Amino acid sequence: MKIYNTLRKDYEDFIPLSDSKVGIYMCGMTVQDRPHLGHMRTFLFGDVLRRYLEYKGYEVIYIQNFTDIDDKIIQRSKSENLDWRALGDKYEQEFLKAAEALNVKLATYYPKATQFIQEIIELIEILVRKGFAYESNGNVYFEVAKFKDYGKLSGKNIENLKESYRIEPDPNKRNPMDFALWKAHKEGEPYWYSPWGKGRPGWHIECSVMSTHFLGQPFDIHMGGQDLIFPHHEDEIAQSEAAYEREFVKYWIHSAPMLIKGEKMSKSTGLYFAISDLLEKYTPEAIRLFILQKHYRSPAEYVSDYLEEAERAIGRLKSFLNQVTPADGKVIWEKVKEFEEAMEDDLNTPKAIGIVFELLKEGNVKLQKGESAADEGATILFILEILGFRITDFTKKKLDTEKISELVRIILDVRQELRKTKNFELADKIRSDLERLGIKVKDTREGTLFEL
Ligand SMILES: [Zn+2]
Ligand SMILES: [Zn+2]
Repeated sequence: MKIYNTLRKDYEDFIPLSDSKVGIYMCGMTVQDRPHLGHMRTFLFGDVLRRYLEYKGYEVIYIQNFTDIDDKIIQRSKSENLDWRALGDKYEQEFLKAAEALNVKLATYYPKATQFIQEIIELIEILVRKGFAYESNGNVYFEVAKFKDYGKLSGKNIENLKESYRIEPDPNKRNPMDFALWKAHKEGEPYWYSPWGKGRPGWHIECSVMSTHFLGQPFDIHMGGQDLIFPHHEDEIAQSEAAYEREFVKYWIHSAPMLIKGEKMSKSTGLYFAISDLLEKYTPEAIRLFILQKHYRSPAEYVSDYLEEAERAIGRLKSFLNQVTPADGKVIWEKVKEFEEAMEDDLNTPKAIGIVFELLKEGNVKLQKGESAADEGATILFILEILGFRITDFTKKKLDTEKISELVRIILDVRQELRKTKNFELADKIRSDLERLGIKVKDTREGTLFEL
């Protein structure tokens, strides 16, 4: 499989460290708000890569963190007047709900920063001991100039960075570009005890600690949005490689942002669509299709027409799959091979989706000629499942109205019996429940009539 590695700025053959297992670390959410489409785009690509590797026979250990303590959480906890822990729990649940709705597989573990304070302190101590970090007024900073490889992921050059950081010098830092590993306690903020006094961890250190805790160092794949390349991932590399003097991560995979009118979808600009809101208008299948139709390294523009088009395309797939019996069909391996080639070409999901719709077209032609298209149906389902679509949603047969009428008739006969025994309360409940479903019930001298 060829994959674009941000670290090498080139495509590389993916060769996992172990023959049978792949470790993936995905930078997760800061639990201070509902996930939006931009967040879920990144997580969906992580999900698809994982599912594809599992399909290829690997056991995937998938770690995704929750950042449960940082500046934004503290601010938000004040503005929502909610304890920061309760705030974190609330938005952790929001994330899990969105992930479940979109059929994103559960991670193997969801570690949280506050569960790893002891290990974070231990890593900072190593960095201080080795001379890569220094304490200053209860804060601990990583001294960027001491780490020779700084900039190797983002391609940033230390000299240029020095210039750009000169604007707002921090008197605690030796160099403006040094970053915080530990932040001294401020009044009214949560804190933990450390060798440098009360305080809390910086953001970057948690991912160095939690990724290698579960996956070892080095591990196979680190993922996240492109906006995390600098400084977050650059700083993770500096921390982990300075401390342990060996490579941190083999493959860095970054997805491009979701845009609205050319601007990045984000909470800070107010331009975003929360998943929970989108799910009121669109099916999870349409959202997944909309996302996979664009390659993960190309920015995707949010346009509601595109989502509506995706919804119609899903409708065409469902209607086709309802006209054939995929269980009687044989998977067309030639097509599966094409699909695999697309996926192994840097996860080319637009091409993979194209193969599904090619099959749909060929299947419909067969149906029009009165031939069986069960093979096309079976192959479509085979591919959709690897791409993470909930395939039971595609094969649900709709009940025909004749069956529904028979069902309503059975229910109304029971209601008639209830009325005879003067159980009017239950009889009325049945009537109002049916009416809630849009089934009108009328008691006449000729008997009970109904209208669907
Ligand atoms: Zn991270
Ligand atoms: Zn550990």
